[in-house]
Amino acid sequence: MNPSKIAISLNLEHSYADQLADFFASVSPAPAPKPSLLQFNKTLACELGLDQQELTPEVLSHVFSGNELPRDAQPIAQVYAGHQFGNFVPQLGDGRALLLGELIDQQGNRRDIALKGSGRTPFSRGGDGKAAVGPVLREYLIGEAMHALGIPTTRALAAVATGERVMRERPLPGAVLTRVAASHVRVGTFQYFAARRQVEHLRKLADYVIQRHYPKASESENPYLALLQGVADRQAALVARWMLVGFIHGVMNTDNMAISGETIDYGPCAFMESYHPETVFSSIDHAGRYAYINQPSVALWNLARFAETLLPLLSEEDSDDTLAEATAVLETFMPAFQRHWYIGAKAKLGLANPNEPESVSDSEHELVDDWLGLLTTNEVDYTLAWRQLAEAADGTVSKLAPLFREHDQLNAWLERWRRLHNGIPASQIASAIRAANPLYIPRNHLVEEALAAASENADLAPFESLLEVVQQPFDEKPECTRYAMPAPTEFTTEYQTFCGT
Ligand code: AMP
Ligand code: MG
Repeated sequence: MNPSKIAISLNLEHSYADQLADFFASVSPAPAPKPSLLQFNKTLACELGLDQQELTPEVLSHVFSGNELPRDAQPIAQVYAGHQFGNFVPQLGDGRALLLGELIDQQGNRRDIALKGSGRTPFSRGGDGKAAVGPVLREYLIGEAMHALGIPTTRALAAVATGERVMRERPLPGAVLTRVAASHVRVGTFQYFAARRQVEHLRKLADYVIQRHYPKASESENPYLALLQGVADRQAALVARWMLVGFIHGVMNTDNMAISGETIDYGPCAFMESYHPETVFSSIDHAGRYAYINQPSVALWNLARFAETLLPLLSEEDSDDTLAEATAVLETFMPAFQRHWYIGAKAKLGLANPNEPESVSDSEHELVDDWLGLLTTNEVDYTLAWRQLAEAADGTVSKLAPLFREHDQLNAWLERWRRLHNGIPASQIASAIRAANPLYIPRNHLVEEALAAASENADLAPFESLLEVVQQPFDEKPECTRYAMPAPTEFTTEYQTFCGT
């Protein structure tokens, strides 16, 4: 049954469908028996220039469950391939997502509007094409938290309960997420055509993403090499920013790496609590492939797969020179990641120098490394440790010291840190720390509590309170102490996340 179209227009355009004819299947969303709006992102709707007058909750629940499409929607499921945990799957694709179209936001940027959980597509394989309330709200919450932390990410525009049960280990209430993304082109999109040796398709795709995401690359002598460099640079910055806030993506398969440089696909992701570089939460990541500390090397591995897809475009024939050029680009990744990491860590220590924002001295490098060493041996909460340095700058360690067991080590480190303040007033250091280090992250026990209330009791109050807190992660609020506290250790040692399928 095709969904009816309603008189609403979202001013959608269709550059992907228009320019990349063989890259998708046209599919209608499945009807939702009894849609009800769980959450709508008004701030994002403003950014997108949506006319909120006509978007009543009733209309929103129909439009963003896929029940009734805006008259300018043209729903498509995009095809892609991907390496999942290192194994190549030649065909994946949107098995439960549909791109409705793109709109140009208030800043002139083209953004994809897509439904996730809207039913089966030709790429669903064995899946039901559906999503459950819990994982939908999880993606909503964590994406918005990442955005508030200043990290490039897809966003959530709406979450709608479908009124239908979806079968997982047990029946769960179903929902559809409306996802907004710079685009949904992934490393896996390139891999799909590379695996089929469809070089002209690859060229079209590369030209499309250059135009959409890396327009400067088109001015370069070799635009495809410049594209590779651009993607590598954005991933280096992105992964550094994840790690600076303790974020673990959890499923960095090549189909979950966006060419735009946004964080995409919040499945088994989680924030680290006490600092441990090998932390893994995903129930299926037995080998720790996507552990916290492995994220830069996995990103590089994924980029190498991306580079392979571009080889036929980099020169007419396979040549050693082409390979050497691509390799040279990949070799810039780790140094770039390190640079972003140390610049970010220096800022988190309150030591950023606005006159030389890129410079990190040897003693600052050592200070950062030794800080992490201290956090590891003392098993300190990663978020609080950085944040409470603000108090230490102000001269009291009453909040910082209780986080540590080895006080002599901490004091010796603090002494070295103070020596590097270089005459910057303490108050300035303290406010720099508060601006660079969140107090509130979506802590796993709070996320689970909020999702359980929403999913099991249709009670959205805990979700909304948590969302509000993580949307202003840097501003301390006396009434929100609970949201800043780590989970009980027993919770974290047992904690596992799931892919949300
Ligand atoms: P993910 O782990 O969410 O990145 O998904 C990997 C692949 O499985 C993608 O091609 C998804 O579209 C597909 N997939 C995940 N869940 C479902 C589902 N419930 N029904 C159909 N396809 C799914
Ligand atoms: Mg995915």
